[in-house]
Amino acid sequence: MFEKVLIANRGEIALRIHRACREMGIKTVAVHSTADADAMHVRLADEAVCIGPPSPAQSYLNIPAIISAAEITRADAIHPGYGFLSENAKFAEIVLEHGMTWIGPSPEHIQLMGDKVMAKRTAAELGLPLVPGSPGPLADFEEARAIAAQIGYPVLIKAASGGGGRGMKVVQSEDELESLMSQAKAEAKAAFGDDTVYMEKYLSNPRHIEYQILGDTHGNAVHLGERDCSLQRRHQKVLEEAPSPALSATQRAEMGEVVRSAIEKMGYVGAGTMEFLYEDEKFYFIEMNTRLQVEHPVTEMISGLDLVREQIRVACGLPLSVTQKDVRLEGHAIECRINAEDPRTFTPAPGQVTDYHAPGGLHVRVDSALYDGYKIPPYYDSMIAKLIVYGQNRNDALMRLKRALEEFVINGPKTTIPLHQALIENPDFLNGDYSIKWLEKWLAENQ
Ligand code: ADP
Repeated sequence: MFEKVLIANRGEIALRIHRACREMGIKTVAVHSTADADAMHVRLADEAVCIGPPSPAQSYLNIPAIISAAEITRADAIHPGYGFLSENAKFAEIVLEHGMTWIGPSPEHIQLMGDKVMAKRTAAELGLPLVPGSPGPLADFEEARAIAAQIGYPVLIKAASGGGGRGMKVVQSEDELESLMSQAKAEAKAAFGDDTVYMEKYLSNPRHIEYQILGDTHGNAVHLGERDCSLQRRHQKVLEEAPSPALSATQRAEMGEVVRSAIEKMGYVGAGTMEFLYEDEKFYFIEMNTRLQVEHPVTEMISGLDLVREQIRVACGLPLSVTQKDVRLEGHAIECRINAEDPRTFTPAPGQVTDYHAPGGLHVRVDSALYDGYKIPPYYDSMIAKLIVYGQNRNDALMRLKRALEEFVINGPKTTIPLHQALIENPDFLNGDYSIKWLEKWLAENQ
């Protein structure tokens, strides 16, 4: 087992990884920008190294500074968390070249799945169902026009290197195609330095359902069921739950086995997520994330497994602590992402937290790096807390969520707590009757 792990991240996820390490008897090294000198992950880690100024490019994305920090502290392994360098195959390779362990899948798998066109090809070869669309990158407008005519409008232009919903354009008809395709290419070039785009049929009212998977170096692969992440704003997840209100136990198990055997065939090692759109009882693969996800706690709640612990175990060559037949998914879990934003306009609202009180009680989990007096810096993602609740069934979880949101006090910056409070009173939400379009429509009607 490792003696010391460097956590190449910040905020709640750095803390989350620190906690798993401590419980395994592993020492931790925090890295931080000058803006995060007083951050909770820095306070709790055994050692901390400043890696640069506030801008992420100069700190949390600064590969030479992070590698030096690992070398001077003699860390055995690096955990990248999510975001930042977590899906950077080059970084994973550099970590390995420096004789340290990368707590994540192989650089080859990161690279393969990071290119969404390649990922779709691989998924098809592994027998996963795809959204109809272009077989590869769109060479030019003429090809785009021919494919769109074949699959039928509306279509979606997506960036091969995409992420976070950027570089995506919905095209309603042929006369818009040329200009929207150039816009998508320009956006993709600016955001990812790669203007490769591809096309998919734009599904009219799907749900976003994703499967959590784990694989080890002994050829074992398991799935831990699905999460429903359909509540989205601008293609960003707002609230997630597991299991999905839309699936029956049989559908869950059948699709779970399709995903599990795909992962096994790939020889994938580590934690990952296969994302699908789900419409008219059919799944369509959209992408695979080769890392831990923000919403992983809902799966932990229903499976009783610690996903970071499993990541660390498999990274040091141990087998997963479970095989598929040991996996028991029970009860229901819901996660609210709480952002430091105006709950109506979604304008980021960094600043000082004057009072902080996190909810507690049975089956309530808060993953957050906030504390009384903490000053939320303006340079990073606005998510400041995740509230996760568990119940024996969906109704119990909903009642508990309502109670926990009432208890949550974050004074100072504006937060999206009121948004979640309103959302969970809505009859459609209470009935589990929502798709990826639902939240934006509801927001538009309630503003
Ligand atoms: P990113 O990597 O940028 O997050 P994804 O491929 O994961 O992109 O898609 C993000 C979200 O965009 C999905 O959860 C869904 O809401 C929407 N989306 C993606 N592809 C389609 C599609 N073919 N039809 C309708 N909506 C889609």
